[in-house]
Amino acid sequence: MAVLTKKFDVVVVGAGGSGLRAALQLSEAGLSVAVLSKVFPTRSHTVAAQGGIGASLGNMAEDNWHYHFYDTVKGSDWLGDQDAIEFMCREAPNVVYELEHFGMPFDRNPDGTIYQRPFGGHSANYGEKAVPRACAAADRTGHALLHTLYQRNVRANTQFFVEWMALDLIRDSEGDVLGVTALEMETGEVMNLQAKITLFATGGAGRIFAASTNAFINTGDGLGMAARAGIPLQDMEFWQFHPTGVAGAGVLITEGVRGEGGILRNANGERFMERYAPTLKDLAPRDFVSRSMDQEIKEGRGVGPNKDHVLLDVTHIGKETIMKRLPSIFEIAKKFANVDATKEPIPVVPTIHYQMGGIPTNIHGQVVVPHELGAGMSSGNKVVNGFYAVGECSCVSVHGANRLGTNSLLDLVVFGRAAGNHIVESIKSGARAHKELPKDAADKTLARLARLDGSTSGENAQDVADTIRATMQAHAAVFRTQETMDKGVVEIMKVAEQVANIHVKDKSKVFNTARIEALEVDNLIEAAKATMVSAAARHECRGAHTVYDYEKKPEDDPYMGRNDKEWLKHTLWYSEANRLDYKPVVLKPLTVDSVPLKPRTF
Ligand SMILES: Cc1cc2nc3c(=O)[nH]c(=O)nc-3n(C[C@H](O)[C@H](O)[C@H](O)COP(=O)(O)OP(=O)(O)OC[C@H]3O[C@@H](n4cnc5c(N)ncnc54)[C@H](O)[C@@H]3O)c2cc1C
Repeated sequence: MAVLTKKFDVVVVGAGGSGLRAALQLSEAGLSVAVLSKVFPTRSHTVAAQGGIGASLGNMAEDNWHYHFYDTVKGSDWLGDQDAIEFMCREAPNVVYELEHFGMPFDRNPDGTIYQRPFGGHSANYGEKAVPRACAAADRTGHALLHTLYQRNVRANTQFFVEWMALDLIRDSEGDVLGVTALEMETGEVMNLQAKITLFATGGAGRIFAASTNAFINTGDGLGMAARAGIPLQDMEFWQFHPTGVAGAGVLITEGVRGEGGILRNANGERFMERYAPTLKDLAPRDFVSRSMDQEIKEGRGVGPNKDHVLLDVTHIGKETIMKRLPSIFEIAKKFANVDATKEPIPVVPTIHYQMGGIPTNIHGQVVVPHELGAGMSSGNKVVNGFYAVGECSCVSVHGANRLGTNSLLDLVVFGRAAGNHIVESIKSGARAHKELPKDAADKTLARLARLDGSTSGENAQDVADTIRATMQAHAAVFRTQETMDKGVVEIMKVAEQVANIHVKDKSKVFNTARIEALEVDNLIEAAKATMVSAAARHECRGAHTVYDYEKKPEDDPYMGRNDKEWLKHTLWYSEANRLDYKPVVLKPLTVDSVPLKPRTF
């Protein structure tokens, strides 16, 4: 079957904060840019971000990028690459002021500067006390950011392909990326989108878990496409559970609530975080707070008939502050937990929220793979020509084993902008030109579609997706054991066989959402396998990856089971044969700005 081809300078897959920030840089430089999105751009998950974007503006207390750098390295449990973290923290004030000048409606202090609130793990003077660093537009920061960037892109004539789904990467025999195959949902037809450079900004895969704060579209498509094309996924064992999802509903209650003074309490009414994190208390990093909540529940101090959640109390901060700073939270508490947050505490439980891992990149957003394939540690990074990734689908890695709240919105704009600049330079200098598409460019995609279009019996796509979610929830939760993870690997491989046997009854093409969901399951399974296999292989506790078997009491081991000697390294997982490889973490030479390895207490 002949597949039509459209040609652009750059194809950007994803219209969330990262894709739009990159696209803006490209369109303003006069390049022809196609931005694809499964949904209307302003419905991307970025719109749901509530609490804020981190930058050491120091508007409300003394702050500087060194403190931000220190917090981010420590927050990452030393798995973040320190060159990338330094770049992000130094750029942060610039990109936030730039957003302000784009017209983003931040909340204001009485003196006109941007309002900032405290957030988990953000501190002044190297961990001494919490510092307000989260620049906020009430509890709708992502909404304000995404709409601002969308409008700037409309002004810059960015070309949007709305309700288009990218299906596979096109690579040639040299491994260069030449574009994507994509499906127009309205017609159900496939097209080649050819580009000098392809940039993935497809967001996270939070939908591989059953209880998730993520949007339904967050199915890890970029991860699936990259993995199927032979590119490894980095650090996928690290998944962030946000401490405060509404119990039973999964909807997020921003950490900004605790930033505004909210307190977590157990069944006895005790502010238990004082015991676990005497300095930062309720504002310790998310992995820390989630584990402490889980511990309270396990030890019988949970709330409710099943003692399976805890309470988030904001009643003492006053109705006026709640309505001014947290209006959406008031609404969410009412709609999803049936409580009036000004009078009663909100039932909350740790809920899957964010993937720290993703497609490996350098600080220009270029996708990188190891130089030396094979056993043991790989040395260095080799750029995949024509391929970039930014935002949650990428791993640069600034979040390491645990992301600090507000550092994702920051990551989107810092690296979206940096990738945009790098792409402009490489196209304008002539370093990247169009290459001829291989004859079989669309063959793999057409084979996937032919299987679905020709199926006569098999598994229901949604049932298989639910099985993936149940498996991940059971085998890769807040607390893990070697046994549950090993079993999880076996289970997820069984589900992978079901994925290969999915059957779609409805064979129509026009807006056939069943067909689209079936194609998404091909991506969910890659993200799930990457997570399970990488997790089972990491024999230590680090950040969000806590394994009972390796956990140690602080009095026995101040590192509490983190094993820097053997595990201070990034995981790389390849879809083919579930092969694992490792590469070193970038630490800075010991200077005033480096953060030497040490135990992680708050
Ligand atoms: C409820 C919630 C609250 C949050 N609050 C904060 C916060 O306060 N501060 C903070 O820093 N972080 C926050 N985060 C995290 C942060 O919002 C996300 O990590 C970030 O917005 C992801 O942005 P992105 O650009 O990578 O992708 P997204 O915004 O998820 O966008 C992905 C885009 O890719 C498109 N896409 C995906 N697959 C395909 C495909 N196959 N073909 C075509 N298009 C495709 C989608 O249509 C979409 O446009 C929050 C996250 C959640 C879920």
